[in-house]
Amino acid sequence: MKQYVVNEIFWSPQGEGMRAGQMSVFIRFTGCNLRCRMEQAEDSPGGFDCDTEFASGRKLTAKEIVDEAILLVGKRNDWYQINSAWTVFSGGEPALQVDVDLVQAFHEAGFLCAIETNGSKCVDNLGLDWITVSPKVAEHAIRQLTADEVKYVRGHGQAIPKPACKAKHQLISPAFDGWSIDSRAVEWCLSLIKENPEWRLSMQQHKAWNVR
Ligand code: SF4
Repeated sequence: MKQYVVNEIFWSPQGEGMRAGQMSVFIRFTGCNLRCRMEQAEDSPGGFDCDTEFASGRKLTAKEIVDEAILLVGKRNDWYQINSAWTVFSGGEPALQVDVDLVQAFHEAGFLCAIETNGSKCVDNLGLDWITVSPKVAEHAIRQLTADEVKYVRGHGQAIPKPACKAKHQLISPAFDGWSIDSRAVEWCLSLIKENPEWRLSMQQHKAWNVR
């Protein structure tokens, strides 16, 4: 039976993007095909250091992952009955592991499925309900060309993006200094948005809320 390597599973409000505030079970997959850091390189967009630990993990089947998600949400409680139960595949880079079987297993359990991907791999055929592309490679290397939202981290001085991925919502997220807001980055992003009204601001609100 196929196993996926999962770094952690937790239930928390979505902290960023158009779905911010929506409770979601996060499945963080082990492994990433990039190494984002301040310097620009083939495997790094430059401008920020990745603060995500994605090296460790445990092997789980699709059923074991779904069972953990159900346990976290508590399938019989009122919350589950009156809300859409969302799961968010993140990482690392979830597109390296998420497949149709896993999405189907979550759908059968009554979950909607979102993915947060760096866009380097196409996820069109997985049957997902929400796609967030947060590009971390040069636009010509983007393989996921449509999305519900695109989200770019921007540090002070970085230009407005020219996304290859066409999305319903375009978001700029100011770079954080660890868990602290970088006010220069926020000011810079606001100045970009004033000049480019098709973009909107997305903050990493979970850091302000001090939740994961
Ligand atoms: S793509 Fe995401 S997880 Fe991978 S190195 Fe970059 S910021 Fe970290």
